[in-house]
Amino acid sequence: VFGKKLVYLCLGIVTIVFLLELWRKDPLLEAFLTSVSLAVAAIPEGLPAIVTIALALGVQRMVKRHVLIRKLPSVETLGCATVICSDKTGTLTQNEMTVRKIFVSGKTIDVSGTGYIPEGNFFSNSMPLSEIEQQAVKKVLEIGVLCNNAYLKKDNNTWKIIGDPTEGAILSVAGKAGIWKDELEKRLPLLSEIPFDSDRKKMSTIRNTPDSLLVCEKGAADVILKDCTKIYLEGETRNLTETDRQAILNENNKMAGAALRVLGTAFKPLDHEMITQDPNTIERDMIFTGLLAMMDPPRLEVKDAVATCHSAGITTVMITGDHKNTARAIGEELGFLRSNSRAIDGTELDSLSDAALEKEVSNIAVYARVSAEHKLRIVKAWKKQGAAVAMTGDGVNDAPAVKEASIGVSMGITGTDVTKEASDMVITDDNFASIVAAVEEGRGIYDNIKKSIHYLLSCNAGEILTMLFASIFNLPLPLFPIQILWINIATDGLPALALSVDSVDPDIMKRTARRSTEQIIDRNLGTLMLFQGFIIAASTLLAYLYVLYYTSSAKPGYLYYWFTNEMIPCAFGGELLGDIERARTVAFCVMVISQSFHSFNCRNARRSLFKIGVFTNKKLLLATGFSLAMQVAIIHIPYCEIIFKVTPLGLKDWATVFGFSFIIFFIMEIIKWFRKESINFQTLNNK
Ligand code: ADP
Ligand code: MG
Repeated sequence: VFGKKLVYLCLGIVTIVFLLELWRKDPLLEAFLTSVSLAVAAIPEGLPAIVTIALALGVQRMVKRHVLIRKLPSVETLGCATVICSDKTGTLTQNEMTVRKIFVSGKTIDVSGTGYIPEGNFFSNSMPLSEIEQQAVKKVLEIGVLCNNAYLKKDNNTWKIIGDPTEGAILSVAGKAGIWKDELEKRLPLLSEIPFDSDRKKMSTIRNTPDSLLVCEKGAADVILKDCTKIYLEGETRNLTETDRQAILNENNKMAGAALRVLGTAFKPLDHEMITQDPNTIERDMIFTGLLAMMDPPRLEVKDAVATCHSAGITTVMITGDHKNTARAIGEELGFLRSNSRAIDGTELDSLSDAALEKEVSNIAVYARVSAEHKLRIVKAWKKQGAAVAMTGDGVNDAPAVKEASIGVSMGITGTDVTKEASDMVITDDNFASIVAAVEEGRGIYDNIKKSIHYLLSCNAGEILTMLFASIFNLPLPLFPIQILWINIATDGLPALALSVDSVDPDIMKRTARRSTEQIIDRNLGTLMLFQGFIIAASTLLAYLYVLYYTSSAKPGYLYYWFTNEMIPCAFGGELLGDIERARTVAFCVMVISQSFHSFNCRNARRSLFKIGVFTNKKLLLATGFSLAMQVAIIHIPYCEIIFKVTPLGLKDWATVFGFSFIIFFIMEIIKWFRKESINFQTLNNK
């Protein structure tokens, strides 16, 4: 968009100047040459390269912060993210589950302190359990182990979990109670499985026993309870009463409220011929055995990351398949839930129409018991609000939501290939804090590219205005096209590149998010660039006239000739104008060197260079030093003068060059100093 606008602007200026020159009765060639110089002046030739390099280097920096960008333009979108929707398990929490409580026969047993496998002292006297209670606990654990795809592996005397952490936690607590998967499997071989998925929130396995089949089921406690009509109590099975159901649900709510993830377990015997039934029928009339509650501690760095988001004007949203109470407890601990936001679950979400959700979405910080389709609805609702939404996902079902999001985020460790393929970026450590780091980098990169553009365009404005004024005041051409091309490609490029990798403003996450519709050059910046271009042009032209003046032998009449339009006839050959070659070379140098000074202005549009530190961007110092050296070189190396149409300068000329070049820096520092007095930085930086 920005590029297109620039082209129209350039064409406009070039046409105006061409007509102006023709009207002055300049020869066609001369008019054409001036217009071409202007076109060259106006177009920032180095910009595409600089933007690409800035993005590529930024992406490299992001890799170090565990972020892999799959689509380069998404770096720009990242900078304006206003909402981050994140999965809970694994992204906000460590995904290292341990079983803390087991609920059987109306009794909650704390198993937090039961030691390590294999020296677990599970049924020790610190936890006095009757024989029958021990039997019940074993039953729950056996079902958990039989309905399980993880396994434990001993590695250098420590036990490692291979597979789903939820299932691993069950294996590990069962190991402490002396229940081992391989032993059980020998007795009860696996026949078939109805796999877990986040929408069903449960899974079952069917096992062969000597005389019939055995269905083992585990899943979200409330979901399992819905499948049960009987309960296993005190060694026998009886009908599940409404009172039992209430007691179990109460316990479930209580444990979930303590941030625990609660799983229910159930079983039933099955006749051989029934195996062909559909899954829903098989998982019916189950016998409830008990609850397993596990803790998944939150990641330590997430709380800070959430606070950073809030100060950066980014809304954070938690999405999980867990129970509402569990989600709420973790949400409160991490700062997702605040006074003005609430938690809802999948059923409540289903009861909201799309229109109602759009109205409500900004008040909901936690979604519990949701499935993948819900995620898509949440993304769409936020987008309708004009938000730039980042959405995480790992499972295959998450792919549509990840694709729909403004920034689709997939998980490097637990993510599926389908979701990674649909995403804009991959978080290699599955950590929420890395998403926030990515936003910070995205903002920084955008900011730095903006600095480069600011620098390049204000310099180009300087070149255009120089040519324009020269044309309006009918001065001989102060800069040749080849010189302007040299500035734009050789001496401008390196400082612009150095600006694009400038240190990021430490307050960058204290600003509010940029709107995605915002132009990279808004009115304020546009005006500022024009003003700075004007100063550069004025410095150049004044230096030019000054040299013409001090090399002329007809000083007193000089201004007169100028104003009476007599200068052109005198320009070529006449003594009146002085040394035009030298004046042009000085103008050329002032243009280059004032731009070098100006590059330091662009590091921060509001803050003095001395505040941010002269030496904090060594690359810029090097770049401007190098540009300067190149400029001196082409002036003084023989033969260059033919190519660049320059003449060697004396000491006095160089003093003139530096004197005039310094003006732009001086003026900008003074303006920054005055602004500081009257203007609040925070609000200005937000613009
Ligand atoms: P999250 O979004 O937090 O990862 P999931 O969709 O994975 O949640 O899980 C939703 C619910 O399904 C959990 O609250 C839990 O009760 C249950 N659950 C999770 N993993 C398993 C599993 N491997 N087997 C059975 N049930 C599970
Ligand atoms: Mg999960």
